[in-house]
This record gives sequence, structure tokens and C-alpha cells, in this order.
Amino acid sequence: MRPTVAIVGRPNVGKSTLFNRLVGRRVALVDDTPGVTRDRREGQARLGSLEFKVVDTAGLEEGGGLEGRMRRQTERAVDEADAVLMLIDARAGVTPVDRHFADLLRRRGNRVVLVANKCEGRAGETGFYEAYALGLGEPVAISAEHAEGMADLHDRIGAAATPGAATEPGAEAASPPETGPLRLAIVGRPNVGKSTLVNRLAGTDRLLTGPEPGITRDAIAVRLDVDGREIELVDTAGLRRRARVTDRLERLSANDTLNAVRMAEVVAVVVDGAVGMEKQDLGIASMAVEEGRALLIVVNKWDLVDEGRSAMARLRERLGDSLPRAQGVRIVPVSALTGARLGTLPPAVFSVHEVWNRRVMTGPLNRWLGEIVERHPPPVVRRRRPRFRYITQAKARPPTFVLFANRPEAVGETYLRYLENDLRATFDLPGTPIRMRLRKGRNPYAGEGGAEEGRRRGRPGSGTRTGKRR
Ligand code: GDP
Ligand code: GDP
Repeated sequence: MRPTVAIVGRPNVGKSTLFNRLVGRRVALVDDTPGVTRDRREGQARLGSLEFKVVDTAGLEEGGGLEGRMRRQTERAVDEADAVLMLIDARAGVTPVDRHFADLLRRRGNRVVLVANKCEGRAGETGFYEAYALGLGEPVAISAEHAEGMADLHDRIGAAATPGAATEPGAEAASPPETGPLRLAIVGRPNVGKSTLVNRLAGTDRLLTGPEPGITRDAIAVRLDVDGREIELVDTAGLRRRARVTDRLERLSANDTLNAVRMAEVVAVVVDGAVGMEKQDLGIASMAVEEGRALLIVVNKWDLVDEGRSAMARLRERLGDSLPRAQGVRIVPVSALTGARLGTLPPAVFSVHEVWNRRVMTGPLNRWLGEIVERHPPPVVRRRRPRFRYITQAKARPPTFVLFANRPEAVGETYLRYLENDLRATFDLPGTPIRMRLRKGRNPYAGEGGAEEGRRRGRPGSGTRTGKRR
């Protein structure tokens, strides 16, 4: 069966124009006035080797209560579609209504291809960059009117409409959903006090006295209520299993830990304060950073530590050296056995979770980029210095930034790390993993038409609209 693809977006972004382009007959009324009455239309679309049913939602948005009506039309089209093309007008940039649409689609978890329309020429460049911030993956630059970008669109629709295929090129493992209780994994080497800690936090012997593990294993969840906020402890079944084995030191396999980390939003790595940070502790912490989780270090058995201050200093130094991708990671000393300082743990968990969810505005980000590049320019490679055009935060959880450069391949890893750490310090993102993705910042059609590329070469260092080279 042919897949169904819905075209959604606010009025006037070019939905009907794209519909006509895909269906190949100029049947629809196209008008400059936003919200001209039209019927919802469906047609058989052909794009290269792809054939699909396409649904145009233009015209369903007029009338009172615009947002409500758009939500309904979008939801209906989205529910019936195998893939959704969400259009924005790259010339107009990303508007609040676009954001509204993106939020709807993100929440419904559909396969979405984000399409930046009106990208012919250069006028759409900034809008194309901005589209990354909608959190729907990489935008496809097209011009519905001039039939540009159709090959890319073909590939992305093909991927999105094929079950099991990834919609977002280079997408990482999906982040856990944003709703529900905060999911916390308590991980660490054997014997550091994880079970004791969980029991303490739960305030009962729940962990040791619950139903038998087995079929119900995955259903066992410990939930805490802290100041009206819920925390769910991830993979406590694994803890229980271990906690029952008292004599033998049965280790949680690395796989169990990895699974717990993946299911969690916040990962608390418990270390034995009497022993200090060991290599294995650092390995577990790095795993959490690699997986992009919010991280904090719980230093347990604090009751056994005499020189608290110097012990903390040693830990901080060790972490700073060994875990550079999580500079400023939160360290929380507690004693699970005596209950001392345990009250400081939940607020710390909420705090790192908040940082992990944070979004930095594009304006300040680009001002920062301009300043730092001026202060400390990237090293020259083959007699040319890479130039940056624009930066935007593509998503949170963890904070992920897309940085556009004229020659991404010439930007070294060391310089990227430098940017990352300065960004972390400037925008107050301590201890959280930060993702920096480099993209070629250029007119999205360069290389497709050829003419644009030629014009661009004649203008080195263009793209100053980002306001970074002042
Ligand atoms: P809809 O309301 O989303 O269906 O948008 P329309 O398809 O009616 O297009 C709105 C306006 O944008 C019309 O004036 C189109 O000619 C114009 N338009 C559509 N696609 C493009 C494009 O690729 N480039 C430019 N510059 N204008 C376009
Ligand atoms: P797990 O293997 O990480 O789950 O560790 P357990 O919770 O089973 O604890 C291992 C041992 O450390 C037990 O003997 C606990 O009583 C002890 N322990 C746990 N927390 C503390 C603490 O805060 N202080 C001290 N002194 N001992 C602790």
C-alpha cells in the first residue's frame, strides 16, 4: 500500500505550492493572502521513485480560534498519515506558530520531516538555520516554487515513510519521553551502598521486600515523592536481585548498568567516599556522559571520611581531569547508613535535571560565538581560517548545539572542546554533557545548482547576518 504523507504548517508557508509540485497538476488555488478558504485536498504524488498519497491541510486553518482549529486539522491529518511534512517559510524565519506546530508534532511522536521552504537564493539561509531549533531533526531545504531540493526531500520522505527507518540522519538513540516522573538511575560499583541508599530514600524496606523478581521484574518501580515532585528509580529490580545475594559479590553486569543509564534522565553514580574515585567509577560516569544523561556523583559513606574538605578537593580534581566532558559535575556527599546529608540529594537531582533540560536563546548564543571567535580564533588550516556562521541549540536533554562553519572539516576537535567548555561556563550548564554538531554553513543549494556555489566563492566570509563578526 502506498504511504500517506500529510503536509502541515502555518498558513502561507507554501503547503499548496508543494502539494501541486508533488501531485504535478496545477489544480489548487494559490494565493498570497493567508487563510484563503480551500478544501483539504488529497492527491497521488510522485517524487522520483516514490509514490505516495499526499494530503494538503492548507485552508483548514481559517476562522475563529486559529490555534484550536489548526490543532484539530493537524491532529487529524497527522493521525492518518505515515509521515508528516512540517513546512516553515525560511524567508520569514521560525515564528511562534511554527513552534506551536513543532511542539504538537513532537508530542505526538510522528515521523516528521522538517521542510524549510522558500530556500532559493540566500534569503532563506538564516531561517533554515533557525529551523534546527524546532527540535525536529535536520531541516530539508527546498523551494517548492522553483523545484529545488527535491532530491533531498525524496530521500527524507523515503526514509520517513519506510517503517523502521530513521527519520533523522545521524540521529542518536532517542531521549526518554519528557513527561511523567523524573527517572533516576542509581548506579555504581558493588558495595558502594546503592541498595542502602535506595532503601533510605524510599523510607522503607521496599527494595528488599517487594514481589519476587521474575516475570514482574520490569514492573517493579520505586517512586519517591519529594516536595510534590515524583522521582522514579530506574532498574531497582537489578538492585534487588543483587541485594538478595548477600554472601557472594555478584556484580551488576556492564549491560545492566548501560540499560539503566539509557532508561534514565538523571544518573547518580555512587562512589565509596572511604575509597575515593576509582577507575571503574570513572568508567561508569563516562558511560552516562556518552549516553548524554544528566550526571551527578554521590559520594556515599561520608561518615567514614575524616578530612571532608580535602577529600572533596581530591574528588573534584580527579573528576576535572578524567571527565572533561562534564566539567563542573555536581558532587553530593551523603551517608546512606546514618542518613546524614541525604536531604541534599533530591534537590541536587532536580537541579542537574533542570540544567540538562535548559535551552539557550539563539541571539545570545551567536553574540557569544562572535566574541569567542574574536578572542580566540580557530587555528589556520592550509592557510585559511575556518569561519563560523551561526550557532543554534537544536535540542535539550542533553543540550545539543548545531554550529555552522564554512569548512567544518578544518575545525579541530581541540577547538570544538574549547568552544564547548566556554559555552558551558558562559551559559551556566555545569556538569551536563553538551553535544556540538558541526555542519557546513552555506546556501543549502550550493553544489546542487552550481551557480550559487560560484557566487558564494566570490564572497568569502559572507553570512554576517548572524551578527557574529562585529
Ligand atoms: P500555504 O498557505 O501554506 O498553502 O501556502 P501557498 O502554497 O499558498 O503559498 C503561499 C505563498 O508563498 C504564495 O505566494 C506562493 O507563491 C509562495 N511560495 C510557495 N513556495 C515558495 C517558494 O519556494 N519560494 C518562494 N519565494 N515563494 C513560495
Ligand atoms: P551496593 O552493593 O552498592 O548495593 O551496596 P550495599 O547497599 O549493599 O552496601 C554495602 C555495604 O556498605 C553494606 O555493608 C552497607 O551497610 C555499607 N554502607 C552503605 N552505606 C553506607 C554508609 O553511608 N556508611 C557506611 N559506613 N557504610 C555504608
